[in-house]
Parts: sequence; structure tokens; C-alpha cells
Amino acid sequence: MQSSKKDYYEILGVPRNATQEEIKKAYRRLARKYHPDFNKDPEAQEKFKEINEAYQVLSDPEKRKLYDQYGHAAFQTSSGGSEYSEQAWKDIFETVEDLFRGFGFEDIFERRGRKRSQRRPIKGEDIYYTVELTLEEAYSGKVVSVPLVREVPCPACEGLGYDRYKGERTCPTCDGRGSIYQRQFFISISQTCPTCGGEGVIREPCSRCGGKGTVPEREEVKVRIPPGVDNGSRVLVEGKGHAGLYGGPPGDLYLLVKVLPHRLFERRGDNLYLDVNLKLTEAVMGTELEVPTLNGEKIKVKIPAGVKEGDTVRVEGKGMPKLRGGGFGDLFLRVHIDIPKLSFWEKHFGDGKKIKQLLEELDKLLPEPTRLRVRQP
Ligand SMILES: [Zn+2]
Ligand SMILES: [Zn+2]
Repeated sequence: MQSSKKDYYEILGVPRNATQEEIKKAYRRLARKYHPDFNKDPEAQEKFKEINEAYQVLSDPEKRKLYDQYGHAAFQTSSGGSEYSEQAWKDIFETVEDLFRGFGFEDIFERRGRKRSQRRPIKGEDIYYTVELTLEEAYSGKVVSVPLVREVPCPACEGLGYDRYKGERTCPTCDGRGSIYQRQFFISISQTCPTCGGEGVIREPCSRCGGKGTVPEREEVKVRIPPGVDNGSRVLVEGKGHAGLYGGPPGDLYLLVKVLPHRLFERRGDNLYLDVNLKLTEAVMGTELEVPTLNGEKIKVKIPAGVKEGDTVRVEGKGMPKLRGGGFGDLFLRVHIDIPKLSFWEKHFGDGKKIKQLLEELDKLLPEPTRLRVRQP
């Protein structure tokens, strides 16, 4: 979703100190006005989403508290912005459907109780989080601290959504039988009671989580990123996503790795490339260079005589650690040759004449090259 998000209170048109009842009333009014079934304005759907998102947060005392404290940031789990899963959308549409049914013939509607008995266990949602590493950190691995807001099982009701010991009463719709009869033309059909979902009793929603069974919680999770990760690598932390529903297991946490570019090294897979400049004479006669590596040590590399611009010199095992299979990639030095600029020397060192003289002597000694190169097919 967009980065510039509207204030949830503004969306519902209620003051910041509005009571739960006022929030619910405002929501009902707006949901009826913008529900896509009733409002065909193309902007209505977007508006409807907004209203529901705001209501999901402000109607939940725990989430509202977090929102008041941290704003929209409280619900952003990754750089991708706030998550709104398919499941969350299904829940919203069911909530709204129930709301409308409530206006019609069915008077009391204990939605949560019905759902709970009908739903299969659902795995909790996954959380995605992006971590940025320098190339050095990708080389050596790193323990990162991830600040999360996770839905965890409500401690007050142990994830049930209702208080086990209090407020259980006989369902008024079915009188405790768990089923109702519905007349259709001349026959009566037995149906599972929609109010209690066949359980025969209605339970008080948990006052801490409002019947959801989960509450948001801030947690700092430490994750070890292994050496050798690359841009786009994913690190999986099992069970550190949101809590599951109806007895389902928790979701997982995925860290998406972004490796920042380095000022000296270029990475290609497990190999590293380093650009080095040689003097003309070094290129002709060969030399030994001292170059840095990613583990901090400096190594000496022999450059053979006669290298040309663009040649590479391979140093085995000095590349990136391999994520799979162990070992290391290679380091390649890409050779560049500083061609002497006589005017530059003259200006800065004052001995351009001497160099020019030596080069002219050398020029006479060098054989004529074949002037035209044959193109390689
Ligand atoms: Zn609870
Ligand atoms: Zn019932």
C-alpha cells in the first residue's frame, strides 16, 4: 500500500478519544455506504478497504494502543508496507456479511462462536523483513536483530478467544439444542444453529483480545545470517511469524537479504573482481602487487610479464564463501594500464624530457607490429 497513509481516526471520522461503541457505530454507517455490493462507484471499493483496515485496528484495544503509540509503523513488518492477507480479507467480508444479516431477520449473531467450531486449524501468516548487509558482512555472516510486531496467542484466554470459566450461557436461538428448524414451503429442515455453531452455548468473548485469540506483541528476534549470502537470498526462521488460528501452527519469518555495492570489489556469484592499475613498465616486465581481501588480510599477487589492458589474473580461493558445499570462490584482478602522459609528468615532476628521450630510444628498438588486426570470428 501507499507510504502516505491516512490516519485511521480520520478515515472513520471519529475523535482520538472515541469509545469502542462510537467507533463501531461510525464503522457500520460507513461500511453500509461503501460496500461494493451497494455502491458501484469505482472509488468505493478502495474506500471500503480503508474503512475496514482502520476498523480492524481501532476496534482491537491492543492494536489501538500500539497504533496510538507508534502510528502506522506499528503494523509494518517489512519494507513492503503493511500486510493484508487473503485470510484477513475473507474475515472482513464475513464480518460485513454478518453485519448485514444482523439488520434483517436474524437478531442475535454470535459470530465468533460459530466460526470457531466450523474452522479448521489455519497456519499463521508469514512475516517478511528486509535486511541490508555490506559485502564484508555477507562475507563473514552476521547476527541481525529484527524488531517485529507479531500476533501471539492471547495470554488471557490461551488463544481460545473466550473465557473458559465465565459467561457461558445457553444459546437463545436454539435453546441449547445446537440446531434449528427452518420452514421452507411445507417442510421443516433441521439446520446447524448459526448463532452457536451447533455447540448450544454462547461464550463471552475474551476481554483482552476481543475474541480473536491473538494479541500483537513487539519482539526483538536475533537471526544468524550465514556467510556467503547474496542479494535476494532468503533466510527462513521457522515459527517466528504470526500465531496460527484455531489451533494451527505459527507462520514463519523470512529475512530478505540485500547486499550493498562495495567501493572496490564487484561480486559475480561466488567470485570477486578487483580493478588494478599498472605502470606501462610493470605490464611489460611483470610485477608483484599487494591487494586487499574481504577478510581484512592483504595478499601479494604475482602479475606475469606482458599482461594487456583488460586481462584478468586469478587468485584461487580468495572470493566469497560458498553458501552450499563449503569452500570459497576466486578473486580476479582486472588489469588496467596507465599510459604515460608526457605533459602530466612535465608539469608535476619536471622530468618529462628525460622520459621522452628514453621512450624515443625504446621506440627505435621495438619491432614494427602488424598494423591491422584480424578480427576474431
Ligand atoms: Zn483472549
Ligand atoms: Zn444455538
